[in-house]
Amino acid sequence: MERKHDVIVVGAGPAGAAAAAVLAQKGCDVLLLDRELFPRDKVCGDAVPSGAIELLYRLGMKDKILAAQQREEFYPLQKMRLVSTRGYEVEATFQKGVTGADSFVAPRKYLDAVIQQHALDCGAEFRQAQVKAPIIEAGQVVGVTAQTNGATHQYRAEVVIGADGVTSAVARALRPKDERHSNQHRAVALRAYIDDIETLPHEIEFYLYKKILPGYAWIFPTGDQQANIGLGMRLDHFRARKQDLNSMLEQFLAMPAVKKRLIHGGRTHDVATWQLSFGSQQNLQSAFNGAVLIGDAAGLINPLTGGGIHNSLISAELAAKVIFEALHDGDFSRERLRQYQVACHQALWKSMRRSYRLQTSLLRFPFLVDLLVNRMGANSQLTKIFLSKL
Ligand SMILES: Cc1cc2nc3c(=O)[nH]c(=O)nc-3n(C[C@H](O)[C@H](O)[C@H](O)COP(=O)(O)OP(=O)(O)OC[C@H]3O[C@@H](n4cnc5c(N)ncnc54)[C@H](O)[C@@H]3O)c2cc1C
Repeated sequence: MERKHDVIVVGAGPAGAAAAAVLAQKGCDVLLLDRELFPRDKVCGDAVPSGAIELLYRLGMKDKILAAQQREEFYPLQKMRLVSTRGYEVEATFQKGVTGADSFVAPRKYLDAVIQQHALDCGAEFRQAQVKAPIIEAGQVVGVTAQTNGATHQYRAEVVIGADGVTSAVARALRPKDERHSNQHRAVALRAYIDDIETLPHEIEFYLYKKILPGYAWIFPTGDQQANIGLGMRLDHFRARKQDLNSMLEQFLAMPAVKKRLIHGGRTHDVATWQLSFGSQQNLQSAFNGAVLIGDAAGLINPLTGGGIHNSLISAELAAKVIFEALHDGDFSRERLRQYQVACHQALWKSMRRSYRLQTSLLRFPFLVDLLVNRMGANSQLTKIFLSKL
């Protein structure tokens, strides 16, 4: 028989590994499950704002992050550039965090391995297992059923944290069927790595042109002449326009401003697509009897920028705090765990609403991007959101 743990965390991405680290640091018995072994790739733009790095510093990861930078796995950022349909450009500077933390392009193969290792160093136990569903007894989540190498196991805990990303098996089982993200609050995106491209040193680029709104294409350097490139678009418009992400990438690379920077045509590799669920959809539950959802499993991505790593970490820290107190009191009811949902709403909802409003305005009035970039430059709300909510 498996022993009963205090907490099972399903998914060892940034959200799950951070929550596991906080709880293990406080002395809880934490089992961290992921279907993959680390290091592993995750489809992402890899841009991590200084706020997220600062949060990782707070969890005790400063040395590990500086070491990853030394190994040249994380590429520090100084600036970002927005480019509009008519080719207007605005450049803005990233602020360092109060602790001096930088923003980075940190390929997820490296970033997630750093955070997962930290969770293990703090005392969490890791197992490779594909979680199939939560175990529910008398209306209470009491563990999960999971498979490893074809064998099925049951793992039990006082609380389960669903941190298993946008396709979360935990969310699918616990959220009522009418509580799903609509296509207006979802996006699809393609990510590739490219070698032999003239990158702008320590500067990331966003291209917001008419054909791609509501969405954008990006070039995020990972080093000299190497970048993470990609594009994403809101799902309802992507479907209505019968778009194809691979053709959209070809069109982006054929744009004169991009094409002239490809050396010998550029070499793309590791091309992959994935989905995003925005935090702008209202009234979704993230707390249940004996379980909570965090990160992409809860759907917390910024609807304008597509940034989700920072929000995942914020939700992880808030959830860990509430769960630690609930363990102390022995109360794992939905009412008690809802304190996490309320705290998360307070921390993120205002910026989600503002970002979604701006996203829909750009869709209805695409010339607004030209106007904001050309006239207001670094002072526009658009630039400020891209700088802060990456
Ligand atoms: C194309 C694209 C570009 C993006 N660019 C950026 C960006 O530049 N910056 C940014 O901040 N955000 C970006 N995002 C969003 C960001 O990737 C997510 O918000 C972030 O990964 C969420 O972290 P998470 O830990 O919640 O989930 P994930 O990172 O998805 O981790 C979930 C983990 O759960 C595991 N898992 C899944 N199902 C199971 C299961 N059944 N059993 C066991 N384990 C399971 C997975 O293996 C994974 O390790 C982008 C997203 C996409 C799709």
